[in-house]
Amino acid sequence: MARYTGAVCKLCRREGQKLFLKGERCFSPKCPLEKGRNYPPGMHGKQSQFRRRESEFGLQLREKQKAKRIYGVLERQFRRYFREALRSKGLTGATLLILLERRLDNVVYRLGLADSRAQARQLVRHGHIEVNGRKTNIPSYLVKAGDVISVRERSRKTTYFRDLMERLGERPVPEWLSFDPDALTGRVLALPTRDQIDVVINEQLVVEYYSR
Ligand code: SF4
Repeated sequence: MARYTGAVCKLCRREGQKLFLKGERCFSPKCPLEKGRNYPPGMHGKQSQFRRRESEFGLQLREKQKAKRIYGVLERQFRRYFREALRSKGLTGATLLILLERRLDNVVYRLGLADSRAQARQLVRHGHIEVNGRKTNIPSYLVKAGDVISVRERSRKTTYFRDLMERLGERPVPEWLSFDPDALTGRVLALPTRDQIDVVINEQLVVEYYSR
C-alpha cells in the first residue's frame, strides 16, 4: 500500500500545528515548530503566513489534509473511509474518525508499542503484530471490540521490544483499550466514541469538503 515518504515536519509546518508524526522528536526542542518555524515550508512560506486569509474551501481542504496526514492515509484510501462513513448510521464526521482510529497501525501506536503511527505501521508490515493470535501484517486492518492485539512471541526477543519494555507506560492508553505491559498485549474493550479520540480535527469541515 502506498504511503507518503517525503519530509514529515514539512507537513506540520504546512498545517501550522503539531501533527506528532515523528515520535519522541515531537516532544523535544528539536521540533521545528518549537523553534518558531510554524510557517509553511518553501521560499515564500514566511511571507504567505501573513498574507494568507483562508477561504471556506481552503479551511475545509486544510482540515481534510490534516486528518489524512495524522493517520498517514493517502487520498484514495481516505475517500474510501469517507464513503463508508457516509453509508453508516450516525454522524458522518465522527464515524470517519472512528474508522481511522480503528486502523491496526493506529491501535499499535495508541497502545504505546510505537512512538508514531509511521513506526507502528512498520511494525505491523514487518509481521511483529498478532490479532487474536494470528499474524496480521495489514496496517489498515480495522479492529473490532474484543480483539486482542499482541506482539509475536519471537519478536519479543528483539532489541526493539526489549528496550521498549523498559519505557512502557509513559503514554496513557485511551479508555477504549486496555494494555498489559508484561504480556505486551492489548485488548479492544469497545469501539471508540468521538470524545475518546484526542485528535484536534474539525471533522465537520472534512464532511463539507467532500460534500461540495
Ligand atoms: Fe511535526 Fe513532530 Fe516534526 Fe514537530 S517534530 S514538526 S510535531 S513531525
